[in-house]
Amino acid sequence: MDRIRSLLMMLRKQAPLSLRVNLGRLRARVSRHKVWDNAYFRETYDWLQESQWWSMAQFETYQLAQLQALVRHAYENVPYYRRVFDAQKLKPRDIATLEDLRKIPLLTKEDIRANAEELLARNVDAARLKRDTTEGSTGEPLGVYHEHPTSQLREWAFYYRQWGWGGYRFGDRYVTLARHTIPLSDLDGTPAIWDYRTDFNELTLATAEMHDNNIRKFTNLIRKFRPRFMYIYPSSAEILARYLQRHQIDDIKLDAVFSDSETLYPRTRDLIESQLGCRIFDHYGLTERVVDAVQCGQHEGYHINMEYGIQELVDEDGQPINEPGVLGTVVGTGFGSHAMPLLRYITSDLASYAAGPCACGRDTTLIAGFQGRVGDYLVSKTGRLVPVLLMVDGHTPVWPKIREIRMRQEREGELTAMVVAVPAFDEQEVVSELQEELYRILGREQFDVRIKLVDRIPRTGSRGKWQLLEQKLSLRFSDVRESRREENATPHQMVE
Ligand SMILES: [Zn+2]
Repeated sequence: MDRIRSLLMMLRKQAPLSLRVNLGRLRARVSRHKVWDNAYFRETYDWLQESQWWSMAQFETYQLAQLQALVRHAYENVPYYRRVFDAQKLKPRDIATLEDLRKIPLLTKEDIRANAEELLARNVDAARLKRDTTEGSTGEPLGVYHEHPTSQLREWAFYYRQWGWGGYRFGDRYVTLARHTIPLSDLDGTPAIWDYRTDFNELTLATAEMHDNNIRKFTNLIRKFRPRFMYIYPSSAEILARYLQRHQIDDIKLDAVFSDSETLYPRTRDLIESQLGCRIFDHYGLTERVVDAVQCGQHEGYHINMEYGIQELVDEDGQPINEPGVLGTVVGTGFGSHAMPLLRYITSDLASYAAGPCACGRDTTLIAGFQGRVGDYLVSKTGRLVPVLLMVDGHTPVWPKIREIRMRQEREGELTAMVVAVPAFDEQEVVSELQEELYRILGREQFDVRIKLVDRIPRTGSRGKWQLLEQKLSLRFSDVRESRREENATPHQMVE
């Protein structure tokens, strides 16, 4: 059986792209699509098309009903919440308004780790539980459970609504530059670098080996495939865009790019947008599925998907932040997971509100920008915090000479940057130019900077996410806020 399977896999790998696209067209005509034709998906998706135009009052009515149902369910079926509610002398009927949500204590990652078993609802069929793991940069991965397959179908409904804002229709051709490896290989075990998924009309390119040889092949495949859209992890698309720029390849233009999973830095956004001739629609979401936010065609801030759950921003004391422009930590209560309800889950992501309303006419809460994580700050010798974001804003000539970069801090006032230089440039020159650039930004007296040339930058976790800074020091949100207050005079550039 295994031999037959690997033979089929090999045949699939050997077939040229054009043949696979044509076979895919035939298949699409005769078979039902596992997502687009699924009844639950369709119902959710159609409903989301209408609800996006709701007024704030309609959203709030809906949210309160969902919240009350979720709290009742958690109290009745989830041992952890029964215990927490009893300890607070709280009953489900005490949640009578949306503000009453604040009576429920915040839920931390550590709470989930320590009470994983007790957080599972007793009335959800174990056969329907699917475990997902977060790939947080700091600390151990965290396991959470969702109901299969409804939770994933619901996710897709939200994804596709935003993709629709960018012009995507089911079946349109798109390229994915967000998958680390491709689950295909030769009989001798050589991993494939691309795949075509007939059912999604999707060309997938493996991001694990983004060196010039492969990128040249990717470029040819993209040309042949003629996609209208691209789904990306920003770091991988940046490598591609830089290659296109360097080789003056200007014939790859798209209608829209959808990005996900990593912080989208302004420098990266500018580069990808100008190279691919279209705008990026960024998405913010979490494996924990508590908050979801998306950019619309206006590209001014992020709409909170209010049908998805309730989003809050809190300060270092857990107090709500409501005014625009004030940095807070993202807290979320997702409506989609009854298997493991997470009420007021506190993330490590920082954001601030925008004044709104958005010119697109959608009346949701608007986030000005997601500003990375608490761990996205460097600590100087004197304990000052510097956002790593500052470092990638530079328009100095050294940046185009760098293919990949990753920073690591283990001690205060020290920084190691691992760098993959673009082959056309002299490596030692790149090292000294980058060192100068980092000293210029950070201050020579505040940091000791070490640059290490490497052949490749390892990605983290099975999905191969990239992170600019690996911060080994443990920072708290209060430190970040304090440092921002001190530096009020120098406004930081926002992610968005
Ligand atoms: Zn909008």
